[in-house]
Amino acid sequence: MHLYPDLLNLYGDRGNIECLKRRLQWRGIDAETVAYTCDDTGFELSDVDILFLGGGSDREQKIVCSRLLEHKEMIKDYAENGGTIIAVCGGYQLLGKYYKLEDETIEGLDVLDIYTEQGSKRLISNIILESDLIKAKIVGFENHGGRTFIGSHKPLGRVVYGHGNDESSRAEGVVYKNVVATYLHGPLLPKNPQLCDYILTNALRHKYADFDGLEPLDDSLENMANEYIVNRFVK
Ligand code: GLN
Repeated sequence: MHLYPDLLNLYGDRGNIECLKRRLQWRGIDAETVAYTCDDTGFELSDVDILFLGGGSDREQKIVCSRLLEHKEMIKDYAENGGTIIAVCGGYQLLGKYYKLEDETIEGLDVLDIYTEQGSKRLISNIILESDLIKAKIVGFENHGGRTFIGSHKPLGRVVYGHGNDESSRAEGVVYKNVVATYLHGPLLPKNPQLCDYILTNALRHKYADFDGLEPLDDSLENMANEYIVNRFVK
């Protein structure tokens, strides 16, 4: 389920949906995307295997937050019970307790024990991470005013180039159960096919107890593109 593609859709975030779908279909696994937009009036998560939230401006984020608060408990339960969530930037921030702006505080969904505060400058950069989840480095692009403090949560990765969650920790994103939350646009998954397969594997394991792993795909072009970016910024 793609939540609010009409509001949270920065820097090609929609490409994540295409990537998830294609990488399943290339392996003969059927996949369907349901978009939930501003015009819709309610949703259920019982049949949802992957929930995706992209990034957006503070204004758009505020609208989404106010609408999603009525589904707070359902989204929290979904995550606690092992449902897969991918959240990028504005979507990442709204999974936390709050996002504090200069003159107001936006309440979050409290799925993660984290909070975000707006800083004086935007953190804008290409970004490269090392992560325990996959062998390849994770590459992307970040542009956020918020600094996210993740407490005792495990980050998605360590920043080797760029900013990440805040100015000083060198941590980026959060991984909690089957929730992957990150500042990386790009879009994230087409640029990082190993991460896409990591997420798909978890979602399939959660759905089918006897799932025995994804068939490998020929990712030579994707890997070359990923390595090119790493070599451009990390010597
Ligand atoms: N509005 C948020 C911020 O600036 C998120 C931006 C985004 O999704 N790129 O921090």
